[in-house]
Amino acid sequence: MIVAVQPLAGFDKLLHYRVPEELRADLRPGSLVRIPISHRQHIGLVLALDVTPDVPLAKLKALTSVVQEFPALTPDLIELARWMHTYYAARMESVLETMIPTAVRSGARLKHDKYLSVARQLTAVEETALAARAPKGAKLFAFLRQQFKPVKKSLVLSRLDITAAVATALLKHGYLREELRHVERVAYSDNWAEGEAVVALPPQLNPEQASVVESIGKSLAGGKFAVHLLNGVTGSGKTEVYLRAVESVLAAGGSAIYLVPEVALTPQTVARLRGRFEAAGQQTVVWHSHLSEGERLDGWVALASGRARVVVGARSAIFAPVPNLRLIVVDEEHEPAYKQDETPRYHGRDVAVYRAKLAKAVCVLGSATPSLESVANVRAGKYQLERLTKRVDDKKLPDILVVDMRIEVMRQRGMVTLSRQLVDHMHQRFERREQTILFLNRRGYSSSMLCRKCGHVEECPHCSVTMTYHRADETLKCHLCGQQHGAPVVCPSCASPEIRWRGLGTQRVEEAVRRVLPRARIERVDADTMSKKHRFREILGDFRAGKIDVLIGTQMIGKGLDFPNVTLVGLVDADLSMHVPDFRANERTFQLIVQVAGRAGRGDRAGEVVVQTFTPQSDAIQFAKRADFDGFVEGELTMRKNFAYPPYRHLIHHQFRGLNPEKIVFFAEHWKKQVEATLGDIVEIRGPSAAPIEKVKDEYRYQIWYFTTRTAHVVAELVKLQAAYKWPTGVSQVLDVDPMSLV
Ligand SMILES: [Zn+2]
Ligand SMILES: [Zn+2]
Repeated sequence: MIVAVQPLAGFDKLLHYRVPEELRADLRPGSLVRIPISHRQHIGLVLALDVTPDVPLAKLKALTSVVQEFPALTPDLIELARWMHTYYAARMESVLETMIPTAVRSGARLKHDKYLSVARQLTAVEETALAARAPKGAKLFAFLRQQFKPVKKSLVLSRLDITAAVATALLKHGYLREELRHVERVAYSDNWAEGEAVVALPPQLNPEQASVVESIGKSLAGGKFAVHLLNGVTGSGKTEVYLRAVESVLAAGGSAIYLVPEVALTPQTVARLRGRFEAAGQQTVVWHSHLSEGERLDGWVALASGRARVVVGARSAIFAPVPNLRLIVVDEEHEPAYKQDETPRYHGRDVAVYRAKLAKAVCVLGSATPSLESVANVRAGKYQLERLTKRVDDKKLPDILVVDMRIEVMRQRGMVTLSRQLVDHMHQRFERREQTILFLNRRGYSSSMLCRKCGHVEECPHCSVTMTYHRADETLKCHLCGQQHGAPVVCPSCASPEIRWRGLGTQRVEEAVRRVLPRARIERVDADTMSKKHRFREILGDFRAGKIDVLIGTQMIGKGLDFPNVTLVGLVDADLSMHVPDFRANERTFQLIVQVAGRAGRGDRAGEVVVQTFTPQSDAIQFAKRADFDGFVEGELTMRKNFAYPPYRHLIHHQFRGLNPEKIVFFAEHWKKQVEATLGDIVEIRGPSAAPIEKVKDEYRYQIWYFTTRTAHVVAELVKLQAAYKWPTGVSQVLDVDPMSLV
């Protein structure tokens, strides 16, 4: 038998190998194998069996071995890899490396521990003899005799302070028995519920939920590819709908993948899934990049073997090698976090839809604020729309109060961190022992240092951004490259002491809250405070337990979390996401307000939201205030259509980087002419222009945008042109298909 193998050895080329007789039974498409390439051993992935060799048979080398018992990719995943390779213009090798965890590729094995137990009772004579001949052996035997079950060997040896040789002697005599036990390393087996009471009994569905469950159930029973877009207001019980769908898939013997946008959200979701399914004997596997190698491998084996049929995790869980995939859930489908910002630059939601198509499975995309792309797919008849318009138990959606900060600044004469309305509301909550969350999507104390005398603004010497002031350690930090130095007391340019700190950061908000609520217990959650592992979960646990009154944080805490005692949410600066050069700025702002507002009033008491903004009349804020998703979508889609922006056309971003800006521009212009000549009739080209952040870590960035409706074809052509083009040294370039961020 001859097989075609994609090597993971730094180049994209299929190689052919002979399969030795003894390996044939273990080999399938998608198997990981060890292969010789010019006298060295590499790992490769079998893409096809029984192929016709491209070199004479006699010259073919043989496979060395099969790495894992189970194929690393199922047939639908092999197809998916090919699609990602072409659609996202990524090398096949990098696609495969993304799909298959390192622990699996490295050929790691399941972990086994040795356990000792007593093999038989000793006679009195034997016991006396043992005590005289080997006192340590007698001690070990006596200890093990008292145990009810086998004891881990390493543990008992260190506890009794004896060597392995002592145990070996007893094993030889047949006094002891040794066995190997597979140690399963289960992610979040400890404390994953964050103190949340996990209800295993399914709640009663309301009529809206029941009709959505029925609709998805019909698709599942049909056994055909279908996508349902579940647009449900925050707190409307979308998760319960997902759980019912997973339940019915498990009952029918199928597998399900459940995606969440952020690793931070997995513990909550895992708790709910385990609470529901593990009682019924269904193991739920956790899959994301923050697991230990052991946890990953064990979870992978459980899924690949079919022993576990539910996997929950961030983006990369879409590559779980589950057989008989019937359902993929993509929660918070609008989240940009689903897009990977390094090669392969895939979008987890779009890959999920494509995998569902290949597997003839059902994909459920859910959100309170679906992306305009998904809404457009509903309108085009590709997705089926489901709606949940009410919160469960008829709880009210929170009231949103928009505070005009222009008036606030006039009244308070100067920079305002917290408006009087927000402060009043926080006082009320504190008196009533209810909780408050404040959001601000910028860490640090203030965004820039301005000299009032000469106008000097301190910028990073390596990047074209201002340095952020961190009061805790009196430093200025660059959030792009990490460069930092002590905060100056006088202007570095003119030596004037009249320095002002402009713009808000979470540290400044924390300081302001401590001033107005000195007795409150306050915690801040952002990338600065979260450097310690598990700290995030700890704080969320404390918050849930009522040990914290006010939680301040960046978007990290804005997603999906559910705390019943939170009755006030403050969005400190709603304008941060709005005034950026990105056509999705309005969509992001609308989503942000609705999502953070959704954190309020999830328990028995009604919630309120205070939104601080300098542009209270803007569409994103006004529609969010009225919780009018359809109204917002109508206006926004009209705007997108007028400019022919996504979702009406696809966007491909081409970035050029290098130390010499003139050289970059010269070649980018030259390249653009080539593209125009070949693809001019199906692509609109814009640029080259400087990226919004022109310099990062001393590298200049320029960009070209391609707008097209024929993405796959255009990407393929661009890749061909790239390969034929003679790129200069010192200019690197990267293509990003369907980018989610333009800055
Ligand atoms: Zn100055
Ligand atoms: Zn920098």
